[in-house]
Formats: sequence, structure tokens, C-alpha cells
Amino acid sequence: MPKRTLYSEDHDLFRESVKKMYAKELVPFVEEWETKGLVSREFWKACGDNGMLLPDIPQAYGGGGLDFKFNAILLEETALAGTTGPAFGVHNDIVAHYIHNYGSETVKSHWLPKMASGEAIGAICMSEPSTGSDLKAVRTKATPVDGGFILNGSKTFITNGINADVAVIAARVGDDSGAKAISLFVVACNEKGFIKGNKLNKVGNRSSDTAELFFEDLFVPTENMLGEQGSGFIYMMKELPQERMSIAISCQAAAQHAYDLAVDYVKERKAFGKAVIDFQNTRFVLADMKAKLQVGWAHLDACIQALVDKELTTTEAASAKLWHSELRCEVVDNCLQMFGGYGYIEEYEIARLWRDARVMRIYGGTSEIMKDLISRSI
Ligand SMILES: Cc1cc2nc3c(=O)[nH]c(=O)nc-3n(C[C@H](O)[C@H](O)[C@H](O)COP(=O)(O)OP(=O)(O)OC[C@H]3O[C@@H](n4cnc5c(N)ncnc54)[C@H](O)[C@@H]3O)c2cc1C
Repeated sequence: MPKRTLYSEDHDLFRESVKKMYAKELVPFVEEWETKGLVSREFWKACGDNGMLLPDIPQAYGGGGLDFKFNAILLEETALAGTTGPAFGVHNDIVAHYIHNYGSETVKSHWLPKMASGEAIGAICMSEPSTGSDLKAVRTKATPVDGGFILNGSKTFITNGINADVAVIAARVGDDSGAKAISLFVVACNEKGFIKGNKLNKVGNRSSDTAELFFEDLFVPTENMLGEQGSGFIYMMKELPQERMSIAISCQAAAQHAYDLAVDYVKERKAFGKAVIDFQNTRFVLADMKAKLQVGWAHLDACIQALVDKELTTTEAASAKLWHSELRCEVVDNCLQMFGGYGYIEEYEIARLWRDARVMRIYGGTSEIMKDLISRSI
């Protein structure tokens, strides 16, 4: 990995503590979580006990009171440890931020300390069976009643859907079909009418639980609406750049991890009487990946700094999500090829990295939607 200047000594110390914690509490459990389709709650609790959750949320709400670079370190280290299981991007970078930025004081002081301690796990519920890319088309309905709203509808592909204790739900108030009817609600997942459906059987990212959710006459008090009624779509557009950066960060680190594994492998593996790395093709493919990774880290660091400085534009975040997710898929596929047949065998980590990569071009907005967003700025 090239030398990076983004991080200070405090960030480096945090990274070291995360690495140590992961060596004990994460790496030995990845296979078990992959089989169960779920990261253990004990791990989330251990992260809370080690002060790793909600790094950039103010200390008054149980967070670390730090900057987003600490969130980025968690994402990088998780990917460098070879898993995408603990969905810190969703919990730390998305759900906590919706609650912190738009929640009432009661909602913030109830949920954020629980999320910081690992007692409560967060989920973001935008996608529905009939719509994902086109968020304006969500059908989940919030009907105004005395003291709040009654939610009816369903969501799908929800990360942390099974483990979740708190969910931010996008729903439509009234019969208007436009974006202005969408509002966001914070809901405890054990409320009557909040039904967790099937854990979806995915191609990759298997240790991360992804579920269908159903809302049947789910009562949500008015104070659990985030911000202003009808502003949900605007809030989503404001928060999506940070979600997209979380994905870009994970992708760059996961690509680096796959590259490092491949370099180790081709130095050991022999064919035609020499190490696989000694073939010019292997060295050229590795060189191409190394150059792209170097450029990738420089670009990523510039975007993280811009995000911390609140200067990252929607277009830049979309470009970062597009480029780093495509890079991850390209690098991981090239690296699997270097493992030959072993690359296709589950006991080799590269096989899992290859499966895990594919969804990165889909969730958080597909590559096509990223291109559409970028093209609007031209
Ligand atoms: C593992 C996983 C985890 C996820 N986690 C979450 C989560 O936690 N919360 C959540 O809310 N959602 C989540 N999602 C949903 C994800 O964000 C959506 O799947 C994604 O946004 C695409 O929506 P869709 O599946 O409905 O595809 P569609 O919108 O139906 O798109 C189908 C195809 O059409 C293309 N397309 C659509 N519109 C256009 C256009 N305007 N121009 C060009 N091409 C277009 C798309 O790019 C795609 O190739 C998750 C998905 C997966 C698979």
C-alpha cells in the first residue's frame, strides 16, 4: 500500500487498536458468521466496549466525538481483514447520521447511546420489492392518526434486517405520488406490526444478514419522524454521498487485500519449473493492478478529506462509488485468476472475496445510476 498522508498519529493509534481487536474478535469468527449468515451480537457489543462504534457522533450521544476518518479506518480494516460482514457503513455512517442530523432530542438521546454501545444495531429501509433505484416510487404508506402515523408496506434487501433493533424507514404520507410525499421514520424493530421476514440467501456477503421486512399497522409516534414531513427524499439525497463513500472505502481496501493475497500466492506457486510470478503476464497484470491501486488510494484519500471538510459533492461521491466498486470487481477477478483452480475453491479466501465483490456495483445505487447522476453535472 502506498504511503498515505490523510491520517494523523491519533488515527494510526486507533487503527492499531482496531487491528488488535479484530485479530481476536473478528478474524477467528468470519467462517462461522458466513455459515450462519449473521455477525454475532457479541461482536457488535465488543466493538461498543472498545469505543469503535459511532466514531464521528458527538460524545454527548455516546459517540467518539471524532472525525469521519475514524469511520473510514473501521471500514478499511474490516475489508483488509477479508470480510464485509459487520455492516459498519450502514450502522455508523448512515443510520446514526440520519438520527443525529434529523432526529428529535428524544429520539437521539434514546437511540444513539445504544447504537454506540453495540446494544442496538441499525438498519436503513429504502428499497422495496417493486423499487430500488427509483426511490421516489416507494409505496410503503404512513397514514396520519392521532399522535402519529400507521405504517403499512414492505421493504427488501435490508442489510442488518435480522439483527436490527432500530430502523430508519422511508414511507409515503398521503396519496401524492411525488418525492415530496416521502418522510423518514425511526422505528424500534420490536414494535408490534414490525415483522422480520426471510433472511435472503445471497451469492456473497453471506455473513451480513439481509432481509425482507413487513409493516402491518405499525404505529409510529409523531416525534419519531425525522425532520420535516415531506423532506425525506431531500434528506436521502443529502446522506447518500456519505453512504457511497463508505462503499468506495470498503472497495478500495478489499481490492488491496485481494491483491496482497495474490502476490503472496504467485510467489509460492510453481508452474513450468518456475514461480508463477516469474511469468511476464503475471507481473504485468500485477503491475497494472498496483498502479490502479496507487491511484485509487490517492483519489480515495482526497475524497475522504473533502467529505470531512464538507466539500465532497454528490457527483464526486457518485464517481468514487462507481470507480472504486468497479476497481474492486476488476482486481478481485484478476486475482482469482492467478490462483488457478484453487481460486474457485471455497477454502481459499480469494473465492469469498470474489463473491463478496459483485454486490458493490449494485447496492448504494447501481453503477448505471451513478453514471446517470454524474452525467447530470456535465
Ligand atoms: C446485499 C444487498 C444489500 C442491500 N442493502 C440495502 C439496505 O440496507 N437498504 C436498502 O434500502 N436497500 C438495500 N439494498 C438494495 C439496493 O440498494 C438496490 O438493490 C439497488 O439500489 C438497485 O435497486 P433494484 O434492485 O430495485 O434494481 P432496479 O432499480 O430494478 O434496477 C434494475 C436494473 O436497471 C438499471 N436501471 C434502473 N434505473 C435505471 C436508469 N435510470 N438508467 C439506467 N439503468 C437503470 C439498474 O442499474 C439495474 O441494472 C441492498 C441490496 C443488496 C443486494
